[in-house]
Amino acid sequence: MNTDFKASGFWRNIKELLPGHRRMLDCVQVAVTSRCMEHCRYCPHTVFKERWQQRDMPMATFERLWPILQRAERVHLQGWGEPLLNSNFFNIAALSRKAGCTVSTTTCGMGLREKQAAALVEAELDIVAPDRHRCREQCCTHRRSI
Ligand code: SF4
Repeated sequence: MNTDFKASGFWRNIKELLPGHRRMLDCVQVAVTSRCMEHCRYCPHTVFKERWQQRDMPMATFERLWPILQRAERVHLQGWGEPLLNSNFFNIAALSRKAGCTVSTTTCGMGLREKQAAALVEAELDIVAPDRHRCREQCCTHRRSI
C-alpha cells in the first residue's frame, strides 16, 4: 500500500466535531470486487453470468478515491460481489480508516474462515453486515414477487 497518504490531523479531527463542520458526504459505497462464490437468483452476478466480468478493484484504483474519502463520514465496501474475495480488502479498509472514515461492509460469509474472521476483528470494522440476499432456490420461493 502506498504510504504517502496522511491521516487527518488533530485539529482537523477537532474541527469536524464542531457543528456545521461535518464531512460533505455521509457515505461512499465502493464495489471492491465483482467476483462471488454464490449464485443468488436475482443478483446481476447470476442473471448476467454469461456477460459478467469478474474482477477485483486494484489498490491503485481505490487509492485514487483518497480526496473523496477525506470528505466522507463512512465508506461502505460492497457491490455485486463478495468484498472479502478482494485480496486487498484489508488494505482498502485500512486506507479508509486513515482517511478518517468509519468502515463497513456486507459479506455473504461463505469464504469466511477462522483466519479471515480474526483479521476482520483486528481491522476493527465498524459494521460487518451479513448479506441477506444470499439464498438458494428453496429460500427464494417466498420472495418470488420481489
Ligand atoms: S452473495 Fe451477493 S454478490 Fe454474491 S450472488 Fe448473492 S447477491 Fe450477488
